[in-house]
Amino acid sequence: MKIKNQEYLEKLKKIPQFPLHIHWDGSIPADEVWNLSQKKGLKLKYPELDRERNKINYKDEQSQIINSKEKLKTFFMDLNTYHIIDVFSIPVGFMQTKEDLIEMAKAHCRYLKAHNIPYAETRFAPQYHTFEGLTMDKVIGYSLEGFEAGKEETGVDARLIISMGRESEPETTIKVVKTALNFQNQIVGIDLATEERGNPPEKHYEAFKLTFDTPIKRTVHAGEMCSEEENLKNIYTSITKLKANAVGHAIPLIKRYYDGNDLWQLMKENNVRLEANPISNHFLFDYAITYHNLDVLVNEGLLVTVNPDDPAMWPYGDMVYLLYFLGELYGNKFLETVTKNAVTASWGLDKFQKQNYIEKIEKAFKEL
Ligand SMILES: [Zn+2]
Repeated sequence: MKIKNQEYLEKLKKIPQFPLHIHWDGSIPADEVWNLSQKKGLKLKYPELDRERNKINYKDEQSQIINSKEKLKTFFMDLNTYHIIDVFSIPVGFMQTKEDLIEMAKAHCRYLKAHNIPYAETRFAPQYHTFEGLTMDKVIGYSLEGFEAGKEETGVDARLIISMGRESEPETTIKVVKTALNFQNQIVGIDLATEERGNPPEKHYEAFKLTFDTPIKRTVHAGEMCSEEENLKNIYTSITKLKANAVGHAIPLIKRYYDGNDLWQLMKENNVRLEANPISNHFLFDYAITYHNLDVLVNEGLLVTVNPDDPAMWPYGDMVYLLYFLGELYGNKFLETVTKNAVTASWGLDKFQKQNYIEKIEKAFKEL
């Protein structure tokens, strides 16, 4: 991957964007994390284990310390060496107190504003933010407070999706959803994330069921990490059993069928949005961007949206690079459709806001 047309990249920065699949902890720039660690006088350390979960031998204590901003930046993007959970544990470590959550929410809004994003649906998993004693209720409450403050400061409207670690026991995800339900008029959805292998969607059916008669929408990371057959099965189960309103990744969706069931038809009938993350899939699982055939899915009339997933975690993570590489492949008409789709498929914008943003997008593409 390479930027060959700098002029086109610059032009694309003028198009407002509306990411619906972006992880809060995966989008905090290394600079921001480094500054916080300095402010708090905390030493950042490289993980004990590598990506394959083998012990890393450091020659001494000093060589396990991440001792510069540059090294932290390199570490964030080195997913060939380290496991993504270990990489994430660094920003998550700075999101454990009321003050941290509020600061990080404001930082996230500043990041979005700098990338021409007036509205986003940002997700995070409260269960990983209780290590210093906060309850999940407090974690969600302070986060909402932070995003409110961020909105005041930047004008950016970032709405929350409450994510859950699917490696957890069902009792944990039930507890998370029960907590999320206390905020059902302030958050927009719930999500199932992390290790998909060995943790199929149906494992968390009981938790998802709690939202069936509520205003809360459901999205599932489905079809990202398993074999093609299992990926297709997880997409199918998420829609049919967990009543997902969105599927994240769904990498083999182009194959269309699972066990004789037409997944495209199913998504269209149920108005399920596709939260595609092609650059993430490329860096984490080595899929070519073309593998997704997103142009075909758009032409089929599926509600395709394109998303950064974790912009701080790999090169070309920001939204604009996604537009650049997809624009080079499929042209500006494609970009306009997926950008408008994001507005249409958003869960926190009302009819008038949607209309207003659609007009802005159309104008921006005319001027491109
Ligand atoms: Zn994701």
